[in-house]
Amino acid sequence: MIAGKYLLKISGCQMSFHDAEAIAGQLQHAGYAPTNNELEADVIIFQTCCVRETAERKIYGQINQLQALKRNKPDLIIGMTGCLAQKDQDKVLKLCPHIDFVLGTKRLGELEAILANLSLNRHPIVDVAEEGTLENLPQARTDGVRAYINITYGCNNFCSYCIVPYVRGPEMSREPNAVVAEVKDALASGYKEIMLLGQNVNTYGRDLGGRADFVSLLKTIDNLPGLARTRYMTSHPRDFTQDMILTVKNSRTVCEHFHLPIQSGSNRILKLMNRGYTREHYLELVDNIRTHIPHSSITTDLIVGFPGETEEDFAATLDLVEKVRFDAAYTFIFSPRKGTKAATLPEQIPSNVKKERLSCLNTIQSRISRDINLPLIGQKLEVLVEGPSKNNPDILSGRTRTNKLVHFSGPRDLVGHLVLVTIKRAFTWTLHGELVSD
Ligand code: SF4
Repeated sequence: MIAGKYLLKISGCQMSFHDAEAIAGQLQHAGYAPTNNELEADVIIFQTCCVRETAERKIYGQINQLQALKRNKPDLIIGMTGCLAQKDQDKVLKLCPHIDFVLGTKRLGELEAILANLSLNRHPIVDVAEEGTLENLPQARTDGVRAYINITYGCNNFCSYCIVPYVRGPEMSREPNAVVAEVKDALASGYKEIMLLGQNVNTYGRDLGGRADFVSLLKTIDNLPGLARTRYMTSHPRDFTQDMILTVKNSRTVCEHFHLPIQSGSNRILKLMNRGYTREHYLELVDNIRTHIPHSSITTDLIVGFPGETEEDFAATLDLVEKVRFDAAYTFIFSPRKGTKAATLPEQIPSNVKKERLSCLNTIQSRISRDINLPLIGQKLEVLVEGPSKNNPDILSGRTRTNKLVHFSGPRDLVGHLVLVTIKRAFTWTLHGELVSD
């Protein structure tokens, strides 16, 4: 007998989407079935992000749009989980008085108890305690070939612009056996690719008293039968070692795609960001990777408009982007986050200047991405088929080991298989090709 229907509204990073799989798992365990229709839902949960001001405003707007529905359906349960819940529970209750519960990032495991509680009395429940475990929660993994698996929770780095350490707490590594067991479970359920998640995967195991580290974990997972590919995010350039590069090089499944967020090309700004490395260190790391794995791809994150960023600092970022020639870059405008050091720094950059710099950076990066993809025309690339293309369900899409998105025609039963595709056309963000028939 189903207990009702639930609707999950998810925003944020991979970690947030993976937390949502644990929320869905608990709801299904409690007898709820998913729906995409607000009118059908008995429970609506917002799994939230607070990394940028705009994300927050959007979430409050969406929750307040449900007031009329709640008036017509008083038994409807509305809840908020995730980073915004952890950061601003009092503000949430003030701005959204019709909300029923606010659950913090460490308290996801309390969901079923909270729903049971709310069925008895409807006083809003707030639980944002700093301790709690996300271990062994039922997971409702999203369909597909890739399974997301946490290896750490939280972060100790306190980059001056980042809210994550304040809402996800200190870095905590999962026991290696627990991680490996979850990987085996996912493979047994038919997943072909594993994405290891952590705010800084490279320091995995530092708090486990030498029982494990990132390299040994990668090597253990790499040997598991049924695994086609291993990916991981997010890396920190300061902690990416030679050993890790060689492990990727000598592995069977670990993909030759390195996502290394540099954030700025100016040493002065990197210092203000408390990133813990210099542009010279970063360039040396890139050279090292390309020396050992010439065909690898390197992508990054970049922030423009950090407080105090001068034209010279920005020019240093553009110069670094030209020097490294990233395959792709996720570019952001600095957004001051209340509670972070950078939010109170002097010389905040005017919004029009930020937008100009972002546009200039994106133009340069798009040219580089396209120039890197064009020579792939004519090559046969191995693709793990993920499913129908989001933009055109008549064709398939998948990724190369270097994380290039490839579209091609082929039968649906290729999903989950490794295939060869001859690249026919190349664009800034995608490749189009033809299936190589056996
Ligand atoms: S490494 Fe820095 S940017 Fe990344 S989550 Fe930690 S504090 Fe935030």
